[in-house]
Amino acid sequence: MRDADALRDAGLLAESDVAAAKQVARRYAIAVTPHLAEGAQTSDAIARQFIPSAEELVIAREELGDPIGDETHSPVKGIVHRYADRVLLKPIHACAVYCRFCFRREQVGPGGDALDAAELQAALDYIRGHGEIWEVILSGGDPLLLSPRRLKEIIDQLAAIDHVGIIRIHTRLPVADPAKIDGEMVAALKCAKAVYVALHCNHADELTPEVKAACGRLIDAGIPMLAQSVLLKGVNDDAAAMEALMRGLVAARIKPYYLHHPDLAHGTGHFRLPIARGQEILRDLRGRVSGLCQPTYVLDIPGGHGKVPIGPDYLSADGTGGWSVADPDGGTHLYPPKAAEKPE
Ligand SMILES: *Cc1c(COP(=O)(O)O)cnc(C)c1O
Ligand code: SF4
Repeated sequence: MRDADALRDAGLLAESDVAAAKQVARRYAIAVTPHLAEGAQTSDAIARQFIPSAEELVIAREELGDPIGDETHSPVKGIVHRYADRVLLKPIHACAVYCRFCFRREQVGPGGDALDAAELQAALDYIRGHGEIWEVILSGGDPLLLSPRRLKEIIDQLAAIDHVGIIRIHTRLPVADPAKIDGEMVAALKCAKAVYVALHCNHADELTPEVKAACGRLIDAGIPMLAQSVLLKGVNDDAAAMEALMRGLVAARIKPYYLHHPDLAHGTGHFRLPIARGQEILRDLRGRVSGLCQPTYVLDIPGGHGKVPIGPDYLSADGTGGWSVADPDGGTHLYPPKAAEKPE
């Protein structure tokens, strides 16, 4: 479904919201796959992520067209080189679904600027010419929207570069259209180098049996999976929702990697919440679930200054050379303990 009328006909958009959704569509791409449309019928957490709303028309003063500064670190088209040892390679700017909070919403869309053959070769030449690049992250858009044949060509060329040790693929496709992760796709990703797939997934409702089976096909083929989630108001902004998501991922053999604080993309204020609230949720999560289920909460500093962990903090200097440490239940303790408090 690619427009407001289709969403209304499917019962996913109220008649009274159609006009605003059409106005949103003039600026930002809309797409909902059959698999997620089915999910959106029963899950508010899914509907809120993909069904356009009038709130997107509200642009806050602090919001930016390029919130994480991709442009400032792009030496050639399709490459973002912000950290010495790794680059983003963005071969395609289309996605199977368009998230309403997308951090690259000004860049992605169905007509989204894909690299043509010459541009792709120039991007690969850049990677070949920079011996410090150890990891190549295919991003976009969604790189798994490329046909398995084209994907395989890119992966084989990357794998043939001596200094490239790791290929990481950032994708939403297993959640959006799990049937696309078929034998041909899995075979396209296998190569002589380590390939990791990082899944974008924000709510346990996204982990349907079909989605888990699709991820299982990748993992069974020897491709480790990570998850990246975005902290989103009205979707996963409480400890119980976060717990269910993280447990669901780990039970599907997917290691939670990052929980992103939402970026300052235009018209996404209704998804953002204070960092202090994010820290509270993370602190709660630490007390509830296993270490396997703990993502790192990160902020991508606006302007292209990179991602950093943003807490919560458990440790503070006590001013006398020692430390005060918070435990998961909210108590605080000195480290090292005072002599009298030393455990027997
Ligand atoms: C997020 C990002 C990476 C990957 O960072 P990790 O911390 O390794 O996951 C690399 N390059 C750019 C430009 C990024 O935005
Ligand atoms: S899948 Fe990623 S790039 Fe595509 S719309 Fe969602 S957040 Fe944006």
